[in-house]
Amino acid sequence: MMIYMKKMNELGVPVPNHKAYVIRNYKDVRKDQRERALIETEYNMFSFPADLLTLDFLSDSGSTSMTDLQWSALIHGDESYGRNKGYYVLLDAFRDVFERGDKPEKLVDLILTGEDDVDKLMNKIYLTSFEGGFVNGGVHQLTRPNTFIVPQGRVSEYLLFSTLAEVLSEINPNRKYFILNNGHFDTTGANIRAVHIEPINVFNKTVVLEPFPYKDMDLRNPFKGNMDIKQLEEIIIQKGPESIPLIYTTITNNSVAGQPVSMANIRVVKEISDKYGIPFFFDACRFAENAYFIKTYEEGFNNISIREIVKEMFSYVDGFTISLKKDGLGNMGGALFLRDKGKFVQKYSINGKNIGIRLKEKQIVTIGNDSYGGLSGRDIMALAVGLQEVVKLPYLKSRIGLTQYFSKKLAENNIPVILPAAGHAVYIDMDKFFMETDMKIEDFGGVGFSIELLKHYGIRACELGPFAFEWDQRTEEQRKGILNLVRFAIPRNAYSRSDIDYTVAAVSELFKNKEHIPKVRIARGAELSLRHFQTGLKPIYK
Ligand SMILES: *Cc1c(COP(=O)(O)O)cnc(C)c1O
Repeated sequence: MMIYMKKMNELGVPVPNHKAYVIRNYKDVRKDQRERALIETEYNMFSFPADLLTLDFLSDSGSTSMTDLQWSALIHGDESYGRNKGYYVLLDAFRDVFERGDKPEKLVDLILTGEDDVDKLMNKIYLTSFEGGFVNGGVHQLTRPNTFIVPQGRVSEYLLFSTLAEVLSEINPNRKYFILNNGHFDTTGANIRAVHIEPINVFNKTVVLEPFPYKDMDLRNPFKGNMDIKQLEEIIIQKGPESIPLIYTTITNNSVAGQPVSMANIRVVKEISDKYGIPFFFDACRFAENAYFIKTYEEGFNNISIREIVKEMFSYVDGFTISLKKDGLGNMGGALFLRDKGKFVQKYSINGKNIGIRLKEKQIVTIGNDSYGGLSGRDIMALAVGLQEVVKLPYLKSRIGLTQYFSKKLAENNIPVILPAAGHAVYIDMDKFFMETDMKIEDFGGVGFSIELLKHYGIRACELGPFAFEWDQRTEEQRKGILNLVRFAIPRNAYSRSDIDYTVAAVSELFKNKEHIPKVRIARGAELSLRHFQTGLKPIYK
């Protein structure tokens, strides 16, 4: 008789993918203690002491638990001022991931295994020259610098936009410029506004808020993070291509409920960028998670590896900014890349000065020399290893599986969660959450919800809605680009299903008692930029 047993991946629960070797225990904090801390930190989520929390979903940024391979790489960190050895292998790890697809060189292994064949080290690592991609090497990185290591993503944005603005004012000091993005991240928008360029979000709000049955989550994905192509072309024609220095696609689209972008959408944006001669960039935070969505849900990609998908995605852009604190790459880091001789470099290398040289000069005066960019040698080694880890399928499957589990559980409890699930976070639609109550958008219900969740259950989430995106300071037109969400961003490799179960139980309890959630007033600093980091708040209890 044949005995049939299901295979491990047919059991209907995910196959475990890692174990914890270091444990950090939480403290036993009472509600009245959290309440006191809330009052003394002006109810500002970012200012609440993390050590007093049970679960922290404020951000997935830099909050990753590193792997044992990353921890062991730290000891190889080289803190030399000029050209530490990690610099070379980090640059080559970038080439591996963004350009080489299924043929990575993994040169970091030579360092980790103590390779002492000096000729081999010189030929393969220290003196190798590269050009034509995102990561020039050898003399080409000196004459045409195109890779800029920085402490975090926003620094690459600052470097890019402050330098671009200088070049644009040399081209035409009077023109008004616009940058089009499927969803500017908060710091990205702020860095663009800081140099008097106007950021415009180009996504389709109706599509994002469309209901999606949670039971379909394993079967399909509508790629709600996509650039709205029709709007994109309309805006380019209306403003004129010469007024648009860059088209920018954020993968995954963090500000638009973390939704992924399809390869088809990336290809069309690339065509439009060519048609109008406008450079095309990625905000590449979470590129690996985006690639997982393409592999799993986009037709034609199921049999293609994550590495090959990443390679194709990046083959379409003229450059990208990235936070290396995302995607489980490491706890600190960021970078800016320009395609050697690409549209961006050609267009903005003016008055006899290569744009890469301008960028490097600014990098040196503000951040640090090119080979460490404000990072320690240890950070650099952890990143060089992390880049190889995050493109592994079992890791991505377990990572995104947990996010999907979280949103499924919320949906089963009738919580209005944005579906399908994003890669790194779960977003609750606060307009729907507060339906049938007297909560108005300017009452910042999402903030009141976050305060209560922290106070009663020690769980920190983050409002990304009318409060964070400064509803009251925006025009009617700009308000259309603001969604009313609360985000639970999940730190990588740190939480498990039991953490999610606790959170879902807590959110469900608040949902049942939603009429007791306070409206919130801004007590201090309504006009401050990026105010969710610094404003003082006051909940109004009935
Ligand atoms: C986090 C993030 C950034 C900024 O990166 P930091 O490392 O936090 O400075 C930019 N864009 C997106 C989409 C992000 O998620």
